[in-house]
Amino acid sequence: MAATPDVPPPPAGGAPAAASTTRRRTGRHRGEGQWAVGHFTPLNANEQFKKDDDGLNVRTRIETIYAKAGFDAIDPSDLRGRMRWWGLYTQRKPGIDGGKTAILEPEELDDSYFMLRVRIDGGRLTTEQLRVIGEISQEFARGTADLTDRQNVQFHWIRIEDMPEIWRRLEGVGLSTTEACGDTPRTILGSPVAGIAENEIIDGTPVIEEIQRRIIGNPDFSNLPRKFKTAVSGSPLLDVAHEINDISLVGVVHPEHGPGFDIWVGGGLSTNPKLGVRLGAWVSAEDAADVHEGVISIFRDYGYRRLRTRARLKFLVADWGPEKFRQVLEDEYLGRKLTDGPAPAEPDGRWRDHVGVHRQRDGRYYVGFAPRVGRVDGTTLTKIAELAAAHGSGRLRNTTEQKMIVLDIDEAQVDSLVSGLEALDLRVTPSPFRRGTMACTGIEFCKLAIVETKGRGASLIDELERRLPEFDEPLTININGCPNACARIQVADIGLKGQLVLDDDGNQVEGYQVHLGGALGLEAGLGRKVRGLKVTAAELPDYVERVLRTYLAQRADGERFAR
Ligand code: SF4
Repeated sequence: MAATPDVPPPPAGGAPAAASTTRRRTGRHRGEGQWAVGHFTPLNANEQFKKDDDGLNVRTRIETIYAKAGFDAIDPSDLRGRMRWWGLYTQRKPGIDGGKTAILEPEELDDSYFMLRVRIDGGRLTTEQLRVIGEISQEFARGTADLTDRQNVQFHWIRIEDMPEIWRRLEGVGLSTTEACGDTPRTILGSPVAGIAENEIIDGTPVIEEIQRRIIGNPDFSNLPRKFKTAVSGSPLLDVAHEINDISLVGVVHPEHGPGFDIWVGGGLSTNPKLGVRLGAWVSAEDAADVHEGVISIFRDYGYRRLRTRARLKFLVADWGPEKFRQVLEDEYLGRKLTDGPAPAEPDGRWRDHVGVHRQRDGRYYVGFAPRVGRVDGTTLTKIAELAAAHGSGRLRNTTEQKMIVLDIDEAQVDSLVSGLEALDLRVTPSPFRRGTMACTGIEFCKLAIVETKGRGASLIDELERRLPEFDEPLTININGCPNACARIQVADIGLKGQLVLDDDGNQVEGYQVHLGGALGLEAGLGRKVRGLKVTAAELPDYVERVLRTYLAQRADGERFAR
């Protein structure tokens, strides 16, 4: 394996020639493993395997060695490290429950099958691509396919032997798994209605495409301290969870310069959640990719690499503050000052998922629909592709709420499409419970999980629909299988963090720590962990019903459940 040279990476983002020298002098966190202060000695096993060989290089080994020799031939540092650079994680061995997880070594939880994540930047899909995803699900993934809250699709039960054929098919229709996981620039979130919404401020699609072209699969950015999440949206609905990405570009209108983007940095959830902060700067669509490249370069160069728990951009932003961050971005990476700009306005509605039937600016319609907690399957995806091809122009989008949208429907075709989707149990006018509930992968496949999530989320929706048909307000119920935050529990009205809890008889059973009152939007805030408030999985529908009934009985005029 080729070793990464023990020298600073080239400055990126149009940095002036003097920038790297400046960077080396400025750092005060030498002990944090920041490259910008000359600290290149790997400080943990992850940094070591990344230095030993770039994660992107594992693709060749998968195709030429592992796919032929099988699972047992895989080098351990590829298996639990570099495979992620191509969207592959080992999945959890079936039958190992959460209670045992803490006493098992990680490799004891490894199954010989993989989860495979397909990156779908901006959530943009064609019917042809969706058909291929459906076929791969049926032929290679035992029918599994989950829509994620980062607009991706995830398969399970993938065999290493099948990866060359899976890549051949995906790449044949312009899809990829490049850097879908790992310490890399992850899938770029985009407004699911970019380019078609009547009320759009600015179309972020060209920005996403330019970021893809410059950054994704580029070895200059394939060894980051940890993952780096990007969101770009010009929708006034603020529909990409911009508060919890490493960088977000949010559509605003500058009073002098017109439509462009407000720059946010340093958001992220997980076990130490922080909301992103505004830099107070506006950037045009033409310059937005430069700013993105500057921010990701700051993360690569100054990001903390010693402790994995501090290796996200949010910790650097918290230490520096937005003023210093902007200054470093301007002085060392862009070589020019940014323009001050306005903040985004409060969105009109609480739902940001684009579910329902909506008019496009060209007079046609888009139709958003809700499966339960993002769970679909290969057969259903193939049927969705057929419906979209028969009724629209062949364009679809995934949302950041585990939902989908079919675009470009003539008015005369809307009812027929809605009937076809409803026949597949894909609701265009879902209950607030189906619409507002998300769940992460959970113990079915995830090695970090402590409890079940998808099945429990689906049955919670059914129970609440049966028990509370009168409830008709926007709300979010997000369910995680462990203390991480893949389903964004800290920014949900009701966030449920999976853990083992004691039942009335003192037995350890699956349950959830409850977080209440989180929100995204201009009133964004993290939910409060209610001290001692834990519910067992069996009690969950009763608990949520009680909360909602109490709210209904006591709500004041004008009060709403969601913040
Ligand atoms: Fe796995 Fe935890 Fe993420 Fe759920 S939140 S997918 S259990 S790591």
